[in-house]
Amino acid sequence: MKKLFLAFIAMGAMLFSMEASAQSSNTVYVCTGKYSVKYHKTNTCSGLSACTSDIVSTTVAAAKKNGKEECLKCYANAKAAPAKEVKKESRKEVKETAEKKTTKKVATKKEPAEKKVAEKKTATKKAAEKKTTTKKAAKDADEKKVAEKKTTTKKAAEKKATTKKAAAKDADEKKVAEKKTATKKAAEKKTTTKKAAKDADEKKVAEKKTTTKKAAEKKATTKKAAEKKTTTKKAAEKKTTKKAAEKKTTTKKTTTKKAA
Ligand SMILES: [Zn+2]
Repeated sequence: MKKLFLAFIAMGAMLFSMEASAQSSNTVYVCTGKYSVKYHKTNTCSGLSACTSDIVSTTVAAAKKNGKEECLKCYANAKAAPAKEVKKESRKEVKETAEKKTTKKVATKKEPAEKKVAEKKTATKKAAEKKTTTKKAAKDADEKKVAEKKTTTKKAAEKKATTKKAAAKDADEKKVAEKKTATKKAAEKKTTTKKAAKDADEKKVAEKKTTTKKAAEKKATTKKAAEKKTTTKKAAEKKTTKKAAEKKTTTKKTTTKKAA
């Protein structure tokens, strides 16, 4: 605990020394009076001798922020000042009054001008910002357009590809269907041909059969006729033989009778 406390003390001392060193190079002095418009390099500047209020130390930045300007006596004539200081001593009062008057005038005059400048600056900045915003918006719009165009082009390409694909598919399907039909027709033709051939064969067979049958019938008829013929012949022969026998017998009888 004690160590921590000591550390704090050390840190505080360091900060204090840092501030002090900064003050040594950047510290200026101003009069807290109502009409004071200058900051001074030293608190012994003649410009501060007429100050009826407090003289306080501050930084250049803070003084400037409060509308103070550097004292020409301290800065421009820093080296010459001490020498002139003595001479001016007597007229100090008069000069301070004059300076006060002038600064008051300048302050009154300067304020609107500064305000105007600030306003102009703000306006310019705003205009620049607007321009940047407009430019950005235009760029964004352009990018959006480009992106949209890209998307549209892509979609069109996809559509085209799809259409092409579909057309190709249709064509393929048509081809396949045609081929199928052709194959089917060929098969049907084949079947028809086969059937026709079979029919023809069957017809031939039937015709052959008929022919064979007819031939057989004819043969049978011929045989019968031949048999009949043979029978008739035999009968005729038999008859002839019988007649001859009868004739023989008759002749014999006659011969016998004659002999008797
Ligand atoms: Zn001064």
